[in-house]
Amino acid sequence: MRQTMNVAAALVMVMAVVVGTAHLISAEEAPKAKVRIFMLQGGGHDWKNHFPILAEILKKTGDFNVTISEDMDQLKAENIKKYDVVLLYGSGQNFSDPAQEKGLCDFVRSGGALAGIHSATDSFKKSDAYWELVGGRFAGHGHGKYTVYIHDKDHPITKDLEDFEITDETYRHAYHKNLRMRSLTCMNRGNERQSMAWVQDYGNGRVFYTANGHGREAWTNPHFQRLAVRGIYWAVKREPKDP
Ligand SMILES: [Zn+2]
Repeated sequence: MRQTMNVAAALVMVMAVVVGTAHLISAEEAPKAKVRIFMLQGGGHDWKNHFPILAEILKKTGDFNVTISEDMDQLKAENIKKYDVVLLYGSGQNFSDPAQEKGLCDFVRSGGALAGIHSATDSFKKSDAYWELVGGRFAGHGHGKYTVYIHDKDHPITKDLEDFEITDETYRHAYHKNLRMRSLTCMNRGNERQSMAWVQDYGNGRVFYTANGHGREAWTNPHFQRLAVRGIYWAVKREPKDP
């Protein structure tokens, strides 16, 4: 009996030391909470195969909790508050309830983040509020292999990035009259330099958008991946990190 008690006492002591140490470590390192990203699936483009590519990259950083769903009601105020950043991609969708549009815009205005990939500007085209939020509305595209030029090397997202080649769609936009974009990358289209990635502040929140990302060739391009991941970090006001 006495021996059993001693073993139990020793166990309690070991537990106390372990718990104490764990407490010290967490206090010292103060790990940041994971970024909760919501990726809205649905609409045109192959999100079914493309989202898992980005989701894996984000999870591997250890900084993200990823939710992928086609439930557009996640944009409503009562649901969107569970996330730090919303990622949009698929084309051709429209809000099925005005509360989704309001939820998304209020979320970013009050400090949330929006990351738009490619056809995010071809979504919710009936909504002027959404057009203003993302800044551009899809107006046409070409396709081929071209160079993406780093237009702004001073921004945290594009700092130290080199121009890169990509096989992808080119993208033309109509810009919202209130857009205050800072263009990060571009491509040459004749005499026009088309912006292929931009950021803008929206209220207290941030919007990152890249026009690249049509097909698998883009989503598996490490330069595209790097740009997208850095853009997401920046949008949630964290130091952009490479995947
Ligand atoms: Zn496309």
